[in-house]
Amino acid sequence: MAEALLEVNDLKVAYGGIQAVKGVTFAVRAGELVCLIGANGAGKTTTLKAITGVQPVGAGEIRFKGRSIKGQGPWELVKQGLVMVPEGRGVFARMTITENLQMGAFTREDNEIEADIDKVFGIFPRLKERRHQLAGTMSGGEQQMLAMGRGLMARPKVLLLDEPSMGLAPIMVDKIFEVVSDIHQRGTTILLVEQNASRALQLATRGYVMDSGEVTMTGEPKALLSDPKVRAAYLGE
Ligand code: ATP
Repeated sequence: MAEALLEVNDLKVAYGGIQAVKGVTFAVRAGELVCLIGANGAGKTTTLKAITGVQPVGAGEIRFKGRSIKGQGPWELVKQGLVMVPEGRGVFARMTITENLQMGAFTREDNEIEADIDKVFGIFPRLKERRHQLAGTMSGGEQQMLAMGRGLMARPKVLLLDEPSMGLAPIMVDKIFEVVSDIHQRGTTILLVEQNASRALQLATRGYVMDSGEVTMTGEPKALLSDPKVRAAYLGE
């Protein structure tokens, strides 16, 4: 089995007195699309924030490419290839699409940025059509595409996607899951956090279930999809 690209070991994160993540352990190997599912407040976003240096780690260990990254800031981590597309997208509303994509490459010093913008336009033709439009005037689905495109501009080794389908119309949800699968098939390793458990598990190579700050189940997506506990709790059965 390939060595893990990202390893989270007994991670604990608290907000003041509230223990949001209570000792979470999981791994993502190169080439995988791992999904993390769970109800509201399970601690999924907090886990991603701790991995990417946005939220301080209380205890435990996080290793990326075999080395501890605990205590490193978001900028350093993005530069190394650990890139998050946050919940709610966070596009720069008063910048154009092209400018937002350029911002995604702010840690890079090579001269292939324009070529990569063209690649992103290849994945998201809609962004190319609208490249001069201000990001804040785009629909939720288009902003999600832009946020993912901006993430790709950092040339991620692992792309962490936080609830990309949240709040989108069904047709856009279909499109976003198609694109997540496309990005994975083009060779990017992905850690996908989703409340849409069924759709996420259909794409994933492996899944983890989080509940109240802990990983409660893990396994092959097919096994999780057919598990009665998962079906009852997360698939509305
Ligand atoms: P959701 O799907 O609703 O985003 P989640 O699984 O991502 O849920 P988190 O957002 O990580 O869950 O939240 C885990 C717990 O931490 C929740 O009880 C939440 O209320 C709490 N929490 C999250 N952010 C903060 C914060 N900034 N300050 C205090 N408590 C927080």
